[in-house]
Amino acid sequence: MKEIVIMSGKGGTGKTSFTAALGVLAGKQAIVADCDVDAANLHLLYQPEILEDHNFLSGKLAVIDYDTCIDCGVCRDKCAFDAIDLTDGKYVINEISCEGCAVCSYLCPEHSIEMKDNHAGKWFISKSRFGTWMVHAHLDIGQDNSGKLVSKVKDEAKKLAKKNEIPFLLVDGPPGVGCPVISAFAGVDHVLIITEATQSGFHDLKRLTELIEFFKAQASCVINKYDLNEPISGTIEEFCNGHSIPVLEKIPFDETFYETLQNGKTIVESENKNLKSKIEHIWQFLKNVEG
Ligand code: SF4
Ligand code: SF4
Repeated sequence: MKEIVIMSGKGGTGKTSFTAALGVLAGKQAIVADCDVDAANLHLLYQPEILEDHNFLSGKLAVIDYDTCIDCGVCRDKCAFDAIDLTDGKYVINEISCEGCAVCSYLCPEHSIEMKDNHAGKWFISKSRFGTWMVHAHLDIGQDNSGKLVSKVKDEAKKLAKKNEIPFLLVDGPPGVGCPVISAFAGVDHVLIITEATQSGFHDLKRLTELIEFFKAQASCVINKYDLNEPISGTIEEFCNGHSIPVLEKIPFDETFYETLQNGKTIVESENKNLKSKIEHIWQFLKNVEG
């Protein structure tokens, strides 16, 4: 199985739109994993039928047993994260602030605090409206375990690909260059970078390239909205050439691109034949990259 991750270095470049379109072209040849778990939105275009949903547990959370608590306040005094509030005479754990360190549980004189599994979100196995398998997730508000959830989504997608003998895994990677992105890099065969012709797009492309080179991954690039700033677009091309990253396509700004998305469709479902043929060219290239 070949694993291709689509990354952008920043949000708003069209990364998810391209991933969705490539997934449609790949059809039953690919599983699509939405690893942009902090802001998952591939499902908006795929409108999947959820076949399985699972809880994502990560870390521990302190829970007070009020039947035995004597309101002494030791837990609040000793919590280094200010995660215990005094509300109407009761000591209450703030679930967003609790880091699960267990100090309160250890020091409570009445043994009234238990450390329980923290429910941090959910992950799903689904089939898109095109029949493509997808694995996706939802991280609960205030949870900061997105790197672990990215790994979980990828692992489950790989298992599904193996079980069903599906040759490609397309990963919608998280934006940025932090922990979730590092998780998305594990085991990757090729990185498709979606960038845009802006100064911030170029800046983030350079940071992403450092990571790609660190992981010794193969990469290629698509410049979206290249004609909004052709001088920067030229600079990006030069940069890519200097780092052995082929620029597969330059996509011009096009209203139909955004109208299609607003109608809940992928860009290969748009009326724009030129756009569709460019995406098909990208998929032909990716199909043939070395694993
Ligand atoms: S330390 Fe234990 S007994 Fe004291 S307030 Fe906290 S939970 Fe209650
Ligand atoms: S587990 Fe740690 S962070 Fe959470 S409430 Fe107890 S002392 Fe505070």
